[in-house]
Amino acid sequence: MKQTNLLYSGKAKSVYRTDTKGKLIIEFRDDITAFDGRKKDVLKNKGNFNAEVSAFVFRYLEKNGVKTHFVKMIDENKMIVRELSMIPLEVIVRNLTAGSLVRKYPFKEGSPLNPPVIVIDYKDDSRHDPMLNDDIIIALGLTTSAELKKIKTICLKINHLLKDFLAKQGIILVDFKMEFGRQGKTIYLGDEISMDSMRLWDKKTGKSLDKDVYRFDKGDVMATYNLVTKRITTTKTRVHKKR
Ligand code: 5GP
Repeated sequence: MKQTNLLYSGKAKSVYRTDTKGKLIIEFRDDITAFDGRKKDVLKNKGNFNAEVSAFVFRYLEKNGVKTHFVKMIDENKMIVRELSMIPLEVIVRNLTAGSLVRKYPFKEGSPLNPPVIVIDYKDDSRHDPMLNDDIIIALGLTTSAELKKIKTICLKINHLLKDFLAKQGIILVDFKMEFGRQGKTIYLGDEISMDSMRLWDKKTGKSLDKDVYRFDKGDVMATYNLVTKRITTTKTRVHKKR
């Protein structure tokens, strides 16, 4: 498969067409941004770390029956993916209170959310990704009611799978963001699952192991990404029993 023209360039990834219908190439670049792109840097190997973790997570989820866009890695920071028609939603699952939830609502940081809380934002930097509710999503025609129900079921399944395997490495999955797209009528998990999109805390020390290190200048970002990549990609995955 050959990479052809650039289709789209986002804040940290570029998407290329290929000579094969229905397949795209995603390049994970070394760019890192925060606060709607107001803070930005280039950090060597960051693209590689996020690509590796994303590929690992996609494989693990596929093994457990979750449909993802992932096909295969072709380079240390490039993967072939299924072309999807993306739904402009950021679907966030939260297991503990942190981040914007603590800033906006009277939660104490680090309180367990049982059952997990799903927050869905409209993916639009110019509007600062405003939070949606089911009625707005449907009124905007972003999904049907059945699709929204399906997305919520898939994201809770993904949360269960991810939380379980990260716990084995002493990592707490505080919250994470997913994006979905369609091919025909089928919904697939798209985009990435990486240190940029998950909020991870070390179980022993409580330290941040994700992009919060960059957002809030908490330490050496690349040393953290490197360590987390090793911890995640050396974890043995297993096929879970049907719940
Ligand atoms: P919060 O709403 O607390 O800022 O973010 C919740 C979770 O979703 C965090 O794990 C955060 O990394 C992820 N998240 C929220 N918005 C974005 C976004 O625009 N891009 C990425 N990569 N992750 C996001």
